[in-house]
Amino acid sequence: MLTPEQIEALRDAASHITDPINDYLIGDIARRISEVGQLTSTAAYEVWMAQQLGTSQRQVKKEVRKRLKVSNRELKKLMTQAAEVGYDFDLKRLPVQAVPFRANESLQQIVAAAVELAGKDLNNITQTLGMVDPFGKALPLQDVYRSCTDFAFKQVITGASDYNTAIRTACANIAKYGVRTIDYESGVHTSLEAAVRRNIMGGLGLMNEQIEQVNHDEMGCNGWEISAHANSAPDHEPIQGKQYSDAEYTALNNSLVRRIGTLNCGHVAFPIILGINSPQYSDAELTDLRRQNEVGITYQGKHYTGYEATQMQRKIERSIRVQKNRILVDKATGDADKRTIDQIKLHQIKLRQLNEEYRRFSQAAGLRTESERTWVVGFSREQATRANIGAEQYYQKWSKEISVNSSIETLAKYYDVKYTNSPRYERLQGYAKAVEKGDISPLVGFDLYEEVSAEIRERLVGATTSTGITIESFTTHFVDRVIGQTSTPHKGMRCGVSIEDALDALLNPIKLDDIRLMDDGDIRQTLYGSKAAVTISVRDKRLIQTNPNSERPANKSQVEISDF
Ligand SMILES: [Zn+2]
Repeated sequence: MLTPEQIEALRDAASHITDPINDYLIGDIARRISEVGQLTSTAAYEVWMAQQLGTSQRQVKKEVRKRLKVSNRELKKLMTQAAEVGYDFDLKRLPVQAVPFRANESLQQIVAAAVELAGKDLNNITQTLGMVDPFGKALPLQDVYRSCTDFAFKQVITGASDYNTAIRTACANIAKYGVRTIDYESGVHTSLEAAVRRNIMGGLGLMNEQIEQVNHDEMGCNGWEISAHANSAPDHEPIQGKQYSDAEYTALNNSLVRRIGTLNCGHVAFPIILGINSPQYSDAELTDLRRQNEVGITYQGKHYTGYEATQMQRKIERSIRVQKNRILVDKATGDADKRTIDQIKLHQIKLRQLNEEYRRFSQAAGLRTESERTWVVGFSREQATRANIGAEQYYQKWSKEISVNSSIETLAKYYDVKYTNSPRYERLQGYAKAVEKGDISPLVGFDLYEEVSAEIRERLVGATTSTGITIESFTTHFVDRVIGQTSTPHKGMRCGVSIEDALDALLNPIKLDDIRLMDDGDIRQTLYGSKAAVTISVRDKRLIQTNPNSERPANKSQVEISDF
C-alpha cells in the first residue's frame, strides 16, 4: 500500500516531470519574440522568418526529444519506487513468507508493463504540444511561434505599441497558460503539467491495484482496508479507515462515483485477513479525523474545512507556477531597458509574496508545503498526528502574537469556545480581526477585550436613548471603538471612547443625525453627545460604533461611516 503522504509526493513528482520541456519552450519562444521586435522592416522580418523559423522548428523538436528522454527516465524511476514501497508495506503487515520485490516475477511484469504504457502516454502527450497565442487561441507549436512573432512584429512596426509593450503582450498568454497539450479534434487544451500528472497518476493507480490484487491472492487475504488520512474529500470520508470483505469492497467501490484506488485522491485499499489484521485506525481516531476536517481553519477571516484548505493550497501552487513562467519569459526577453527591469522586479516580488502566502497558509492549515512533501522512500507510515501538531503550533504562535493565549491556552480550548460558547467565539473573532486590521493594539489582550465587552453589556445594553430605543446588543466593532487605537491623542490614531461618554451620547444627545437607510436594509442613526458620537441600528436596537468628538468632522455632511 502507498501511504497518503507517498501518494501526495508522487503527485508532486508527476507534476514536475515535464518541467524541463515547459521551461525550455517558454524561454525559447519568448526569446524569438523579443528578437523580431527588433527588426525594422517587413523585408527583414521575412528574411528572419525564412531563416529562423525553419531551423528553429527542427531545433525545438530536437530539444524537446532530449528533455523527454530525461522525463522518461524519471518516470520509470518513479513508478518502480512506488511499486516497491507499496509492496514492501504489504509484506510487513501480512503473516506470510513472501518473495522480495525484485525476485517477484509477476510483480516485475506488472511494473514493466505499467512503465511502458506510461512512457508511451507521455510520448503521445508531447506529440500534441502547443501554447496560447496573444489572441487567446491554443495553437500547435509551429503555429504559435508564427502567430506570436507576427503579432509582436506588427505591433512594433506599425507603431501600435512600443517594443516592450509589444513583447509583453505577445508573451502574456504564453506565461499565463504555460505549455499546453491540445486535442486537435475537440480543440480542448490542458496544461502539459496537469495532463501529464493525470496520466501518470492514472497509470500508477492501475499498477497499484494490480499489485495489491496479486498480494491479496498470493498471501491468502479475504478482505480490504481503505486507508485513511486527514482532510479527506467529503465523498470518501465516511468509508475511509474501515475494513471490508472482498464482496463488500467490490460492491462498495462499484457504487462510488470516484473509485478508491485510482490515486486521484490519497486513498488506496490494501489487502487484509479479516480478524487477523487490526485496522490502522480506531473508530475514535476516525471520528477525530472527521472532526478536525470539519473544524478546519480560519485564515484571514475566511473558514476552510481541512479538505478545502488542501484545495486552496493547490490553487496557490498553481499561481506560483504561473508566476514562475512569467519570470522565465522575463529572463528570455530581458534587456537593460528600465521598464523591463521594473517588470522583472515586479514579477519577482509577486512570486516572493505568493511563496510567503503559500507558506503562511500551509502553516495555518497544518499542511506540508510542496518542498516538504518530497518523495522519501523511507516514509513507511502516515503520521496522522502531524496535522494536529502543526495546528497546535500555529495556534500557540497566533494566540501569543495577539495576546489571546492567557485566556484560551490551547487549541482544544479554542475549539471548545468555538463549538460551545458562540458569544465568546464571536468576541474572539472580533478581537482577532480588530488586531489584524490595526483597530486595536495586540497589547490590549483578549482579557481586557472581554472585560470591556462585559462592561458595555452591563452599562449600555438596556439603556434607553433619548429617541426611545432600548439597546439590546452591540457589535464587536463597537468594542474596538471603545478601546480605540490609543488612550492618548496621537496624530492618525483613533482614541477610545469611555463608556461614560458613550452613555451620555445615548441619553443626552446634543445633536441627532438624520436616520439613514443602509444598503442592507438596516436603519441607522448617529447620536452626538458632548464628548462622543454613537451610531446605533434603530432596526436592531444595536450599538454599531462610536467615535470621540475630537474626530468628528466639522462639516456635518462629511459625517460618513466609512466602515460600512
Ligand atoms: Zn479519497
